[in-house]
Amino acid sequence: MSGGHGDAGMASGKMAKLKELLQKSENRICADCSAPDPNWASANIGVFICVKCSGVHRSVGTHISKVMSVTLDKWSDDEIDSMVEVGGNSQANAIYEAFLPEGYRKPHPDSAQEERQKFIKSKYELQEFLEPSLRIVSNHPSDAGKQASNSHSASSKSEARLPQDCKLSN
Ligand SMILES: [Zn+2]
Repeated sequence: MSGGHGDAGMASGKMAKLKELLQKSENRICADCSAPDPNWASANIGVFICVKCSGVHRSVGTHISKVMSVTLDKWSDDEIDSMVEVGGNSQANAIYEAFLPEGYRKPHPDSAQEERQKFIKSKYELQEFLEPSLRIVSNHPSDAGKQASNSHSASSKSEARLPQDCKLSN
């Protein structure tokens, strides 16, 4: 049945997809501090996070991280799609923590707010642990020609893998 009635209150189909993703074991712990049962998410980064980390994510600004509640907020199809596309915490961390220094101490569920903040800023805002070719913060275009590589197209599409700023809908 199709009621041509504008937005009905429930986008149950899509939302079910999001909840399904949340149920995956890798998403049962916070992407940043490993706290159990995260119910928050960063819709543009594609990670599920705990309530404490969500506060920090919010403080770095929506241009970096768009924090939403999985249980309370109303998600648009696009937002759900981009979460599903990233594929959850393991996939996102494989990118954002690709170059996490050995022995680096990630925050724990009980970590102080300060420690949490430092890590989350480094990880998402400064992108210190991101694979260098994917970093968008400080790429010196002038260095590009210096790479003595036989292929020059490797990095041209790399930005497509970065969720943020890809979608400027609304
Ligand atoms: Zn957390």
